[in-house]
Amino acid sequence: MFVDIAKIHLKAGNGGDGAVSFHREKYVAAGGPDGGDGGKGGDIIFVADKNLSTLADFRYKRKYIAESGEKGKAGRGSGKKAPDLIVRVPEGTLIKDAETGRIIADISDSTPTVIAKGGNGGWGNTHFATATRQVPRFAKRGAEGEELDVTLELKLLADVGLIGFPNVGKSTLISVVSEAKPKIANFHFTTLTPVLGVVRMGEGSSFVMADIPGLIEGASEGIGLGHEFLRHVERCRLLIHVIDVSGSEGRDPIEDFEKINHELSVYSEELSGRPQIIAANKCDLCDDEQINRIRVYFEDKGYPFFPIMAAIGEGTAPLINFVASELQKLPPVKRFEAEPKPMKDYSKPKTRTFNIRICDGVYIVENAPWLLDIMNDINPEDYESLQYFERVLRSSGIIDALKNSGIHEGDTVSVYDVEFNYVE
Ligand code: GDP
Ligand code: MG
Repeated sequence: MFVDIAKIHLKAGNGGDGAVSFHREKYVAAGGPDGGDGGKGGDIIFVADKNLSTLADFRYKRKYIAESGEKGKAGRGSGKKAPDLIVRVPEGTLIKDAETGRIIADISDSTPTVIAKGGNGGWGNTHFATATRQVPRFAKRGAEGEELDVTLELKLLADVGLIGFPNVGKSTLISVVSEAKPKIANFHFTTLTPVLGVVRMGEGSSFVMADIPGLIEGASEGIGLGHEFLRHVERCRLLIHVIDVSGSEGRDPIEDFEKINHELSVYSEELSGRPQIIAANKCDLCDDEQINRIRVYFEDKGYPFFPIMAAIGEGTAPLINFVASELQKLPPVKRFEAEPKPMKDYSKPKTRTFNIRICDGVYIVENAPWLLDIMNDINPEDYESLQYFERVLRSSGIIDALKNSGIHEGDTVSVYDVEFNYVE
């Protein structure tokens, strides 16, 4: 079955907790802290796989959970990083945040993309000894791995899209100009699955053509078949609009054309502005007078017009040559840009609330969720990063508040899972 949309749940691995450990005697700081860092949690990474053509696998498996990093160990032993979880999707899969619709990534080339980041490992207590002179009586929890629901949306990668009413001969056309072998029948909607075919031209000018299921009136409002397939022509560089020039089914080819274009513009203004070439099919079923009448209509509007008989391959060569030369002038297949993530804003003073409570001689900083966010982002491997943490304590007024509460050199400060001794 052709599945081109799916919703799945991602949970990247949590970071392993840092270890509190002392070299000689337990709980004696002078013995030398040697608790190692926790390992980083596994990322969830998406890669394009050319062998996949649908999102059907995601119907059955909807939860993707990466492993947590290992805990830190005594003797400065770092916990092992968890393996990343690789998720394979067909080329051309868009990944969107299911909640906001924000585009997170367009998996349309071979670059692996991290979609959910594993949490950093917690700091073992060795770090605090070296980097900040604090007496290291603490270790930090590993950070949580990112967790989110995403929508996967396949948008085929094709240079040229075939559009037109059902039964006008789109599948026939792709089957004579490429190796694709779609179902062809004198029956509406025989194409229920988009089909890709490579049109082989000379060196460097081959291109990919997509035959998508026929559009019908009202398709853009989701009535009937077609609308859901429009996403597959969104990336196309140009469209071949196939019409039944003979009107063999009792419809007017010009009316057909305008209806399809109306559907396109309702679906996407951008898509309706894509260059279109008219393939006037079934020329064998009408006379030259009819063909010319229709030709005049389109040429007046500036559309290139090619009379063809797809069934016997008549007239398809000039059409395909023209398409190939047009493609040389057009921009490449559309890639979707990732939309920026709303930034966490640490700088707003009003969000930097906190509270200091003294309990058994320990100064506890609490009610500061913003600080917890910062701590989760800090990399304990990095001295700069630790200094940044100290600067934040200063600039947010926490250090001053501690002084005002009567703290003395050597007293213990506790900030969430982190405990350190106050040093002037
Ligand atoms: P689609 O629904 O647009 O993909 O149309 P198909 O390619 O399945 O073709 C629909 C019908 O039109 C089939 O019976 C084809 O054999 C027929 N057909 C395709 N091209 C021609 C043509 O050039 N002349 C005639 N007379 N029939 C054609
Ligand atoms: Mg078809």
